[in-house]
Amino acid sequence: MIQRHARHACALLAFSLLHAAFAAQADTLIIPGAVWDGIAEAPVTGQAVLVRGERIAAVGPVETLQSAGAERIELPRTTLVPGLIEGHSHLLLHPYNETLWDDQVLKEGFGYRVAAAVAHAAATLRAGITTERDLGTEGAGNADVQLKRAIDDGLVPGPRLITVTRAIVATGSYGPQRKSYSFDPGQGAEEATGTEEIARVVRHQVAQGADWIKVYADYRWGPDGEARATFSQTELDALVAAARDAGRPVAAHATTPEGMRRAVLAGVETIEHGDTGTPEVFRLMKKHGVTLCPTVATAEAYATYFDGWVKGKMPPNAELRAKREAFRAALDAGVAICFGGDVGVFPHGENTRELEVMVEWGMSPLAAMRSATSVNARMLHREAQIGRIAPGLLADLVAVPGDPTRDISSLRHPGLVMKGGKRVY
Ligand SMILES: [Zn+2]
Repeated sequence: MIQRHARHACALLAFSLLHAAFAAQADTLIIPGAVWDGIAEAPVTGQAVLVRGERIAAVGPVETLQSAGAERIELPRTTLVPGLIEGHSHLLLHPYNETLWDDQVLKEGFGYRVAAAVAHAAATLRAGITTERDLGTEGAGNADVQLKRAIDDGLVPGPRLITVTRAIVATGSYGPQRKSYSFDPGQGAEEATGTEEIARVVRHQVAQGADWIKVYADYRWGPDGEARATFSQTELDALVAAARDAGRPVAAHATTPEGMRRAVLAGVETIEHGDTGTPEVFRLMKKHGVTLCPTVATAEAYATYFDGWVKGKMPPNAELRAKREAFRAALDAGVAICFGGDVGVFPHGENTRELEVMVEWGMSPLAAMRSATSVNARMLHREAQIGRIAPGLLADLVAVPGDPTRDISSLRHPGLVMKGGKRVY
C-alpha cells in the first residue's frame, strides 16, 4: 500500500514538473547573419526570428523582437532558411551499389528494412530536410505510414512524412520481373488492372494511411526492355477520380512523352522523372499546372552504378545527355520544378545533391532554393504551414554557412536544424 502511494506521489510530482516545464517553456530568439524567407530575391541581414512553441511568432530587426527570458541562439555568418522539403524519397530503400533493388525487395527481411528506414529518417532530418514526401515502400507494405506515426509520436527522429504506401502499377509491368525467377516473386508495388480494381486498390491504400497516391504511368516493360505506357487513359482517369474523391493528390512516375501525356490528361499533380519529355509535353504540363520532380541526381547515380561513369572525369553518357536536354526543355516551358531526388537510390542525408545537379544543369541557386522550400510546400498543399519563414508558420528552420541562394553547396553542412520549434540538431 505504502509503495503504491509513493509511486503515485512520484507520478504526481513528475506530472507537475512536466506541466511547469511546458508552462514556462521560453521563447527562442534566433539571430543569424541573414534570413532568407523561402521566396525573396536575396537573404536579408539584421533580421532575427522569434519562435514560440512550435511556431514562428515574429520576424524582424533583432531590437524589435525582445522577449523576456527568451533563449538566444546567435549564429553569425549563417543564413537561416526554411526547413527543406524533399519531394521524392524512398526511406525503405538504400543505394543500389550496396544492394541491387531486386535483392532489397526479395531478400531483405521486413524488420531489417524498417530498422534501416529509421536510420535513414534520422540522417534525412540531420541534413536539414524537415518534410519529406516518400514515394513508395517498394515491397514494404505501409511501413512508411507506421514510421510516420513513430516520428510524430516522438519515438524516433525524422522529417514530417507524406506517405503513399505502395505505388500502383499495371499488372505485369513492374518488378522484380517474373521471367527472371523460378518462383513468383513478390512485387515492389501493388498491381491492378481495370477501372474497378484500380478504384478498389486506391481506396484500400487510403484506408492503409496513404496521403498521396503514386502510380506508374509507364515502365520498362517493352519487348526490348524499353519504357512504354502501362495503364490506358481510361484506367488512369479512374485512378485519379478515385483518389480525388478521397482528397488524395496523385503523383505519376513517367519517363516517356506518352506516359507523361496520359498522366497529365488524367489529372495527376506531379510527374516524377520526365527523362525523355519533349518541349510539347512540358508545355502541356505547364498548361495543366503539373509540377516536375526531375530526379537528376538519381540519373547521375544510375550512370555511376551501371555504366561506370565517373563524374568530373568522363563526359556524360547518352542517358545523361538526353536527361539534361529534357530538363532544359522543362525549364524553358516554365514548368514548376520540384526538389525531389529519388533519394534512396543514392544515400539518405545527401538529399541536397539533387539541388547541386539542378544548378549545374542550368537552374539558378535561388530558383533551386525556392524549389526546396516555397515551391514544394505549394506542391504539397501545405504552404500555410511550411516552406517559408513567416509569422504563424511552423518553426521548421535550418541555418547554413554562407548564402545558399548564391552557393547551393552551402546546404551540405547545416549548423542548426529546428523542427516544429524544437532544436533537433
Ligand atoms: Zn522513386
